[in-house]
Amino acid sequence: MKAAQLEDGVVHVRDLPMPEPGVEEALIRISASGVCHSDLHLARGDWMGIPPLPTLGHEAIGIVEALGPGAERFAQVGDRVILGLGGTGGGYWCGACEYCLSGQPRHCKETKGIIGTFAEHFCVWARSLVKLPDSVGDQEAPLACGGLTAYGAVKKLLKHHVLPGRPVAVIGAAGGLGHYAVQIASAFGYKVIGVDVGEERLEFVRSLGAHMAVGADDALEVIQRDLGGVDASLVFSAKIAGFHLGLKALRRGGLFVAVGLPPSSEGNIEISPFEFFLNDPTLIFSAVGTVQDMRELVELAAAGRVKSHVSRVGALSELGTIFDELQAGSYLGRAVITDLSH
Ligand SMILES: [Zn+2]
Ligand SMILES: [Zn+2]
Repeated sequence: MKAAQLEDGVVHVRDLPMPEPGVEEALIRISASGVCHSDLHLARGDWMGIPPLPTLGHEAIGIVEALGPGAERFAQVGDRVILGLGGTGGGYWCGACEYCLSGQPRHCKETKGIIGTFAEHFCVWARSLVKLPDSVGDQEAPLACGGLTAYGAVKKLLKHHVLPGRPVAVIGAAGGLGHYAVQIASAFGYKVIGVDVGEERLEFVRSLGAHMAVGADDALEVIQRDLGGVDASLVFSAKIAGFHLGLKALRRGGLFVAVGLPPSSEGNIEISPFEFFLNDPTLIFSAVGTVQDMRELVELAAAGRVKSHVSRVGALSELGTIFDELQAGSYLGRAVITDLSH
């Protein structure tokens, strides 16, 4: 089978042996694999302590072609499924520890990630698969990470008592994650203030259903003047400046939800203890989501409430070029590899 492999930072398409499904695993023939910003960070070695990996890709749609022992409880041959769960923790979790039982399997000690979906075939733990209705097309592959990560972050608003109807800022609203968050938060009934840069991107944010779209340079002034601050900020920015904007846009007692993971070279979030005392924000991080979150998101997509904005498709051999384009910000929304055969 063909698979993309990374060598010294360059993507090559190679012939690899066909993988065989192990215990409780399903062999998937991949029909579409999304290009996530974290694939780019991993390819470039952007994150402290994580070396560049030989294989990449963690959001895909495909067909179950074979089952390993025990996998028949969770999937059938011929099922059309979405896989990935945001990469982190989608490959295995124990199901019995305090984290698994409280709905946070990504903190499970035995958790395994998913990586390597830029390939014709891929084996995955069948328990993490979610079946897709025909109405959700192959171009929705980025729901597996980008969509799920945005969904998980919006759900945290409810958990922290930020109620529908309240103003919520989405920082990085036109991006690969942010464009989902605008749609999902709007579907939940929040008043979404989308923040991004450039008129084209702001127009895109308005088209997604945002209550208001503002440029990053004016955002703080507009949010404070018109709304007296937001109840929550969802920060998808790859720049630390976006994190600081998210903090400053909050009204007192607001909720700060960090979702983006800027390169380590961007430095740290800064908050003075006095500012902390005065404004009393709640600071949390939200990463990916659970199988149940994925099922709920698939329902929203099937109902037409959430759509992946895919403006770049290509073959496996174009992956390196697509990484360059993603880094340069030359397309809006997401890219999807739809031909994995060359
Ligand atoms: Zn566990
Ligand atoms: Zn991802």
